[in-house]
Amino acid sequence: MERGKWFQRPSQRNGAAKNAAPEALWMKCPKCREIHFAKDVERNLRVCPHCGYHYRLKAVERLEMLVDPESFIEIDSSVHSCNPLEFPGYAEKLQRAQQDTGLIDSVLCGYAKIERHPVVLSIADFEFLGGSMGSVVGEKLVRAMERSLNENLPFILFTANGGGARMFEGLLSLMQMAKTSAAISRLRTAGIPYIVVLTDPTMAGVYASYASLGDVILAEPGALIGFAGRRVGNQDMGMKLPDDFQTSEFQFRSGQIDQIVTRKEMRSTLGSILTFFAGEEAEIAALA
Ligand SMILES: [Zn+2]
Repeated sequence: MERGKWFQRPSQRNGAAKNAAPEALWMKCPKCREIHFAKDVERNLRVCPHCGYHYRLKAVERLEMLVDPESFIEIDSSVHSCNPLEFPGYAEKLQRAQQDTGLIDSVLCGYAKIERHPVVLSIADFEFLGGSMGSVVGEKLVRAMERSLNENLPFILFTANGGGARMFEGLLSLMQMAKTSAAISRLRTAGIPYIVVLTDPTMAGVYASYASLGDVILAEPGALIGFAGRRVGNQDMGMKLPDDFQTSEFQFRSGQIDQIVTRKEMRSTLGSILTFFAGEEAEIAALA
């Protein structure tokens, strides 16, 4: 079992972030168009201080905001894609994404504590090939879920997957939908809590499988969440869709999401949910 080592920031890993662009001094909010000092946005957890727009986060940034200090232990960090279909150019794209993000693939998995509750955690990184789901993502998620199952730990998953399945791995990517869904079913049978947090964007095959199967489904405000995009919907249904179609708010109104949670409140909300499940478990154990 590969388990060990405190997590290293990408900048500490071999060859990581070499191509990273210099940090911008100012940021223009894509929603309200206000310009802010980048450090103020960073201090505000990368949320616009004026309108509350939630900027996308790298997996490592989210990790640092979320978990108890030094509690994260990465697992299966060396699982990597072998370009099984020998898709032209895929190996180069993977290499570039690895250099840019410091990750081996688009999902970071490990043990962590959130408000002192031990969990198994998975965080997707949109910057790694759009956070797409290939065979490595499916394999890492299932391995992490099996640890969750064997060690009786809640599983928490943060999504950020624009294109869903990774086209460079064809059918093997699509198979991960069934593979992860089967693992979630095993968690459910064992009564292990599976909590999903949808972040911008969560689309296509990812949303149609593990992202929509949580016992509790939370979302950040304003995230794009859906299966096919707005254009496909417009064309197929021949009707005008609401302005906020496929946003967190739209999905919440449609009953697809349990709660929209701001980034500032995410940690404490997850802590409360974990406390609830821990309490319930203690009650069941007392009854047995
Ligand atoms: Zn704004």
